[in-house]
Amino acid sequence: MSDIGLPEWPQYDERERAGLIRALEQGQWWRLGGGEVDAFEREFAEYHGAEHALAVTNGTHALELALQVLGVGPGDEVVVPAFTFISSSQAAQRLGAVAVPVDIDPETYCLDVAATEAAIGPRTKAIMPVHMAGQLADMDGLGKLSDASGVPLIQDAAHAHGARWNGRRVGEFGSIASFSFQNGKLMTAGEGGAVTFPDRESYEEAFLRHSCGRPREDRGYWHRTSGSNFRLNEFSAAVLRAQLSRLDEQIETRERRAPVLARLLGEIPGVVPQGRDPRADRVPHYMAMFRVPGLAGERRDALVDTLVARGVPAFVVFRAIYRTNAFWETGAPDATVEELAARCPNAEAITDDGIWLHHRTLLGTEEQVHRVAEIVAEAVAAS
Ligand SMILES: *Cc1c(COP(=O)(O)O)cnc(C)c1O
Repeated sequence: MSDIGLPEWPQYDERERAGLIRALEQGQWWRLGGGEVDAFEREFAEYHGAEHALAVTNGTHALELALQVLGVGPGDEVVVPAFTFISSSQAAQRLGAVAVPVDIDPETYCLDVAATEAAIGPRTKAIMPVHMAGQLADMDGLGKLSDASGVPLIQDAAHAHGARWNGRRVGEFGSIASFSFQNGKLMTAGEGGAVTFPDRESYEEAFLRHSCGRPREDRGYWHRTSGSNFRLNEFSAAVLRAQLSRLDEQIETRERRAPVLARLLGEIPGVVPQGRDPRADRVPHYMAMFRVPGLAGERRDALVDTLVARGVPAFVVFRAIYRTNAFWETGAPDATVEELAARCPNAEAITDDGIWLHHRTLLGTEEQVHRVAEIVAEAVAAS
C-alpha cells in the first residue's frame, strides 16, 4: 500500500477534546439531564436555516422517525431513488410501507423528476430525494411536483450537511430533512443522526416519538404516542458541536479541490465524473464520484482494488437497492427485479460502472489531487 499523504478522517482537535471533558464533567450523560444535545440541536438547525433540529442515534433512525412524523405506515408507498444507500428504503420498509424505487438522473445521480412523477399513485405518502454526494436533487422540479400532488418531500441529506440550492439551505425548503453523522460522513461522532423540521409541531411530535412517546417533563410514565428510544447521548453531541464548527472551512477546501479533480478526471479517456447542476451552488462533496462505462462489473471492481492498493480511498458505488436481499424481505413492490431494472436503466448502469472516492481526497493539497488523478489515469489505462 503506497501512501500519498492524504489527510485522515475523522479529524479532531482541542475542540472535540474540550467538548468530551465538558460532557463528562456535567455528571449527566443523557440528553434529558445535560445541555449538549439541546445546544447542538439549536446550532445545527440555525446552520441549515431550519426552525428546529432533533438529534438522534443515527441516520437510519432519522429517516424512520421523519417518515413516522409524516404519518407513513403499513401499506403506504414511499418513492425512493433506486440508487442510494439501503437506509433510504429500509426506513420505509421498517414501518411496513412499500419502498418504490425510481430511476436517477444519469448526470447528477439524484432522483429523476419525470420518473418520480410517473411513480406517484394514490398510496404515495412521501417522496424521498437523496442529495447524492452532497449535490442537492432538483429541488425546483421536485418542489413543484410535491405542491401539485400534495405528497410531501423528505430530504435524505445524509451527504449534504451545509449544501445549498440557488442560495437556499437544506432547512429552507419547507420540508423535513434527515442527516447522518456516521464515521465517514461530513461531520461525525462515529454514529449519530439528526432531523430538521420546518415547524414546531412536527418537531414536538418527533421529540415524543424519539423518546418512547414520553414528554420531556413526564414523571408519571404517561407515554403519549408510540415510538422508540432514538435519543443521542451527550458525548456525541459535544463532539458534533466541535465538528460543526469546522464544517464551513472543510467545505470551502473541498469546493476549491473538487472542480480541479473533476476537470482532471474528465480528461481521462473512459472516465466520466458526476455532473453538477449549476443551481447546486454549494456542494459539500461527501464523495467524489465518477463512472468508467467501458470497465463495468468485475473490471470496475478490479480497478477499485488497484486504486486502493495505490493509496486512493476508492470504493464501488451503492448497488441498486432492488439488487439486494434486504430490499425483498419486506415492503417490496409487486414487481420482479427484472421489471424494476427495466424501469431504472441509469441506476443499473451506475451500479456497475460507478466509483467513489472518500471526501478526504478533497481535503488534501492541490498537488495531492493531481497525484490522485494521475493514479486513476494510469490504473484506467492499464485496465
Ligand atoms: C449514511 C447514509 C444513511 C444512514 O445513515 P446511518 O447514520 O449510517 O444510519 C442514509 N442515507 C444515505 C444516503 C446514507 O449515505
